[in-house]
Amino acid sequence: MECGLYLVGTPIGNLEDMTFRAVRILTEVDVILAEDTRKTGILLKHFDIQSSMVSCHKFNEQSRVDRVLSDLSEGKSLALVSDAGMPLISDPGSRLVRAVRDAGFLVTAIPGPTAVTTALALSGWGEDGFVFAGFPPNKRAGRRRMLESFREELRPVILYESTHRILKCLRDIEDILEDRPVFFARELTKKFETLFTGTARECAEFLEQRSSKGEFVVILGPPETP
Ligand code: SAM
Repeated sequence: MECGLYLVGTPIGNLEDMTFRAVRILTEVDVILAEDTRKTGILLKHFDIQSSMVSCHKFNEQSRVDRVLSDLSEGKSLALVSDAGMPLISDPGSRLVRAVRDAGFLVTAIPGPTAVTTALALSGWGEDGFVFAGFPPNKRAGRRRMLESFREELRPVILYESTHRILKCLRDIEDILEDRPVFFARELTKKFETLFTGTARECAEFLEQRSSKGEFVVILGPPETP
């Protein structure tokens, strides 16, 4: 295979979403750079992939750059995977990708699932562009500032949110954007996938009455949508 860095998309919950090409590339590369070697180990075992693995996460990414460049200069091929979905989408790898490209080596992607576009398609608001804002700031003041900045935004705005902060985030959306329609997708592609559309207050009430566990994509709908 051609020497270079391969960004490989992996499932966001359902192992059947792994692509044939992702399996082949992960099998053929010399080294897999994994955000969490334990999690990726489960994936590799499932697909009987024997390639060697080293960790590459936000705390050691910078120090991995030299090693990756040295491997590439020896003609090796490497793959970068995150815990789930597309690497670099709210996941580490940006510094590495820029350094590898700046050094003149091949960087290419094996596209796979990603929560952002999966949720957007399900929302029904995806036709005319969108804004992907990733995770809102953890702290309330920062989160509220971010939401304020979307007051005039006509395109759907996509946020990632964790189980720990989903209710706080929905309450802030309710305060700041009031009756703007909100769609959330929880546990996409998994057994307990949940999709819901309503105001932020209705979304929060729905989760409070059941459970707010899981991984979430929250989409602020276009203001004029009924
Ligand atoms: N790289 C991933 C991608 O391509 O979507 C995103 C990684 S980011 C660290 C993790 C966040 O993505 C979660 O907190 C959640 O907001 C979203 N996410 C990932 N998988 C999801 C799923 N199956 N259902 C809903 N949201 C998901």
